[in-house]
Amino acid sequence: MNNDITMPRSLNYIDGQWCHGGDREIPVYNPADGSQIGSIPCSDAATVDKAVKAARAGFENPEWRNLAPMAREALLHRLANLIEENAEQLAKIESLDNGKPIAFSSTLDVPLCTSWFRYFAGWCSKLSGKSLNPALQAAGSHHVYTRREPIGVVGAIVPWNFPLVLAVWKLAPALAAGCTVVIKPAELTPYSVLKLAELVDQAGFPKGVFNVVLGDGSTGQAIVDHPGVNKISFTGSTAVGKSILRSVSHDLKRVTLELGGKSPTIIMPDADMSLAIPGATQAAFVNSGQICFAGTRLFAPRKHFEQILDGVADAASSFKIGPGLDPTSMLGPVISQKQMDGIFTRIDSSVQQGASLHSGGKRIGDAGYFIEPTILVTDDNQNPAFREEFFGPVLTATPYDDLDELVALANDSSYGLAAHVYTSQLNAAHQLAAKLEAGTVWVNTQLSPDPNIPFGGFKQSGWGRENGEDVFEHYLETKSVIMSLGN
Ligand code: NAP
Ligand code: MG
Repeated sequence: MNNDITMPRSLNYIDGQWCHGGDREIPVYNPADGSQIGSIPCSDAATVDKAVKAARAGFENPEWRNLAPMAREALLHRLANLIEENAEQLAKIESLDNGKPIAFSSTLDVPLCTSWFRYFAGWCSKLSGKSLNPALQAAGSHHVYTRREPIGVVGAIVPWNFPLVLAVWKLAPALAAGCTVVIKPAELTPYSVLKLAELVDQAGFPKGVFNVVLGDGSTGQAIVDHPGVNKISFTGSTAVGKSILRSVSHDLKRVTLELGGKSPTIIMPDADMSLAIPGATQAAFVNSGQICFAGTRLFAPRKHFEQILDGVADAASSFKIGPGLDPTSMLGPVISQKQMDGIFTRIDSSVQQGASLHSGGKRIGDAGYFIEPTILVTDDNQNPAFREEFFGPVLTATPYDDLDELVALANDSSYGLAAHVYTSQLNAAHQLAAKLEAGTVWVNTQLSPDPNIPFGGFKQSGWGRENGEDVFEHYLETKSVIMSLGN
């Protein structure tokens, strides 16, 4: 272990205390070399129950419930300050645990978390109901208003690809809304959220407002099944998202789902290739392709197809691949042996079913889970490379001839998370943006998400939106109060 990293405790954080839970331990590995970096408790249903009860008591506690909005705002800013003060440690923990290059975790992941808490801090004092006039009653006969009340205890369940960022996308609005939270990080990447728990503790949030329960899918399931949880905010795979919906059908807990994707990158014939080629490369390969909105299906005009593919392959081969903690690395390993094996299985079955391998496709070294940036070519919309989310550094390229067929090709997916369009024509850009079935459309850019811009999926990429004002719809309930004025 690198001795300049101080790892947080490998314990649950419940009601302001660090505690064990369950009889089983889960080992945690460094994906850059496969060595074990620690182990965490696999918390059982009794531990989840303890955390949910603490979150309920935290929610009812007047120290939190009746806190002035600007005092809540001050707490969130204090937490943002502490993240800034601990930025280097947080970035190193994230790179060790997840494998992502420190060049990204230190300039992207951790600073994004600070921005998210600061942005949502500003909302605390701006969340309020409305005064309304009833449509069917005499004017002046009733006093009617809505209240927007925090939904209660939020169960947040997050994946391993952006362990801290995706946790903060849930925590910042939930806390701004006045909710309390039980969060379960992915078993593969628990440490940055545990470090965050230390900082929440230091910031002075009342006990029980923020709780971390460590464990695997069974721990997540116990959160989903707990009757004391009012809402599940989930980011992860479409398969688990669907199973969560089945689980909540008996009590109709509120649910938001941020799920998978197979997002298109469309290069139009008139695109500025000096923008489109590096853009398409980044969209597919940054974070080793482990981004839910990665542009993993590339549509390029047939007459420029080879030139574009060679350009993307060249740009990808210029990324230095290495361990996350090496400051010169631009691409890290994928998260686990299991994930790596799954990616190679999908590449093989795509090739067996007729896709051709343009470049990459091999493991690098034999320690750690490094995969070459890989480009597959297919025009078969039934090929796995066209349909399935690989969640690794694999781009599927498809040539097109006819502009009229493009939208149908791009929309030919059960997912609808994002799309990237490269064109120099203003009207083509807006026409495509209107027709693409995607929650976010980037034009001539591959933008980092923004706290003020809603993010979420069409179709099987999810339910609901995170970020921006829209997210509060999912953390607040609206109550109408109707009072007769007696005249
Ligand atoms: P996953 O298997 O669905 O896991 C996500 C989280 O759910 C983990 O904490 C996991 O625990 C937990 N979990 C597993 N089974 C559960 C159950 N039955 N009930 C409750 N929780 C359960 O997803 P993943 O493989 O870790 O992550 C990759 C997927 O996430 C990809 O499909 C990707 O596209 C998607 N993703 C989407 C977004 C977005 O914003 N749309 C962002 C990032 C990733 P353990 O892992 O500890 O077992
Ligand atoms: Mg998993």
